[in-house]
Amino acid sequence: MGALRKIKTKRRTRDYDQVIADVDSSRHLAQYKASKDPEDLPGLGQHFCVECSKWFESDYNLKAHTKGKNHKRRVRLLQEEPHSQELAEAAVGLGVVENWRGHIKRADNAADKADKMEMAA
Ligand SMILES: [Zn+2]
Repeated sequence: MGALRKIKTKRRTRDYDQVIADVDSSRHLAQYKASKDPEDLPGLGQHFCVECSKWFESDYNLKAHTKGKNHKRRVRLLQEEPHSQELAEAAVGLGVVENWRGHIKRADNAADKADKMEMAA
């Protein structure tokens, strides 16, 4: 078990939720990059694929990678809605009623605001 785990974590990249945050916010990505020493990275950390969270030796390699199967699969996976606790609870029927009520409440509030706007105008 120990040996297997070592193999599986050796080339471990960032998780999907981390990558989604990277894509959304350049600050999040900068924070991650700051945690690495450029001298330890391939190509001194100049060529980075955000979606795959991978460094490459050269710009040529990075371009070849973005045309490849693995990169395209990763981009497609990232476009799906990320797994969340709400989604997991909804799958077993928890929290659905509460969310539904919350939705009604929000809709009422919006209607109230619209009424007030009309009265003010
Ligand atoms: Zn990639």
